[in-house]
Order: sequence, then C-alpha cells, then structure tokens
Amino acid sequence: MTEEYSYDDAIEGLKQLLSEKSELETIAAAKIKQLTADLEAASTKAVNPVERIKTGFAHFKTEKYEKNPDLYEELCKGQSPKVISLTLILKYLFMVFACSDSRVCPSHILDFQPGEAFMVRNIANMVPQYDKIKYSGVGAALEYAVVHLKVENILVMGHSCCGGIKGLMSIPDDGTTHSDFIEDWVKICDIAKTKVKAEFGDLDIAELCTHCEKEAVNVSLGNLLTYPFIKAAVLNRSLSLQGGYYNFLKGSFDFWCLGHAISPSLSL
Ligand SMILES: [Zn+2]
Repeated sequence: MTEEYSYDDAIEGLKQLLSEKSELETIAAAKIKQLTADLEAASTKAVNPVERIKTGFAHFKTEKYEKNPDLYEELCKGQSPKVISLTLILKYLFMVFACSDSRVCPSHILDFQPGEAFMVRNIANMVPQYDKIKYSGVGAALEYAVVHLKVENILVMGHSCCGGIKGLMSIPDDGTTHSDFIEDWVKICDIAKTKVKAEFGDLDIAELCTHCEKEAVNVSLGNLLTYPFIKAAVLNRSLSLQGGYYNFLKGSFDFWCLGHAISPSLSL
C-alpha cells in the first residue's frame, strides 16, 4: 500500500526541490498556473447544475434524438408495444422496480431503450403490500402498468451495497426508528431481515446485507401478488414476475422467475 502523501508534504517537496534547483522555478510556475486553472474548472463544473443539465440534454439530442427520428416519432404515439412498430423490436414492455441509487439505473445496466421499460425507483427497490392509503403512489404505477399498458413482465431488481437494505438491517430489534420516512419505508421488507438473521445470524453485517438484498426482492415479488389485478394477470399467464440482482462489485447479474416456485437463478 502506498503511503499517504499530504498536501503539506507535496508543497514541502516542491520547495525543497526549488531551493536546490532554482532554474526550475519558471517551469514550476507555469505548471502550478495550469493546475490552478484545471482545479478551478473542475470545481465549477461540479457545482453548476444548470450547465450539467444543458450539456446532458444537448448530448442526448444530438447523439440519440436526432439520430433516431423513427424511434422518437413512434414514441410520440405512446409507450405501449402495440403502437410501436415491429421494426423497433419492442416485443415486451417491462415494468421495473429499481433502487434510487445512482449506480443502478436499469436503462444503463440492461440497455433499455425509450419505450421499453416503465419504471418505479425508490429506496431499496421495494414493492409494498396493497394499501390504497399508505402506498397509493406505488399502487397507481402498478395499476397503470398492468391494467392499461398491459406489461408482460415485472422485474424487481436488487443490487449490491444497497444503503436502504443496510438501513433495514441496522434497525434495532425493538424496532426503534429515528428517521421521518426511511426506516418505516424499508420495514416493508422486515420479513426478509427476520429470515436472513435466522438463517445466517453468525455472518458479519456485510454478508447479512448481501443475503437480505436478494431476499428482499423475493418479499417484493410476493407483495406484488397482493394486488388483485396482478394476481389475476399472473394466474391467466399474461404477466410474469421476475427477480434480478445486480452486483456492481463483481459486474454480475442474477435473474430468476417467480412461478409456482422460484426458478433456478440464471447468472450473467
Ligand atoms: Zn439501493
């Protein structure tokens, strides 16, 4: 492991060098000027959200929107596969539940194109049980996707190092919470935590979290069946429920289907 080289060490090293070799002063001054300009530019870029949105959209417009006029013209008509031409190969429309974590965007990881996946992103990609009052936001998205868009697949996608799952695993056994929303939300998958602790209680917290990240996906898949319109669609085989787990430490993706029993996992 390399030893930490502090800012003070760096300045001291430079002073030492220049005191011994004063002929390097001009070169050093030019390099320091350039470094200062680079650091200034980097910090300005990092804190300017307006510029970030402008350049991001400009890139999308020139590289995607204007290069695929057929796709975007079709998408103006709707997002259901029925109104998208077959040449655009959108055979199945997915609904995806993914974590809000910026590292796990499904369009990025699974290469979903516009029109292909209807998404809900929330803390720890959880699907609560049917509840018209408490969870109407999730219920409305599910109803729209299943009843109106008639999606054929719902994928619940968990991921490695999930902060929401870590939060769930960290709630003390007496259930005391300290946040306004987060802990109550992640308790949706309390049953996954209980199961993982019972089965793997002797593992360390990081390993427990990994197990819980996967088990929570199964709890969400089970919760989907508490929605009457989902249960009906699954029973008449017009809708399939799938679990996924993206591990960004290993660069792997596990995938399984919920049928009468959970199918063997497919690792990619
Ligand atoms: Zn997460």
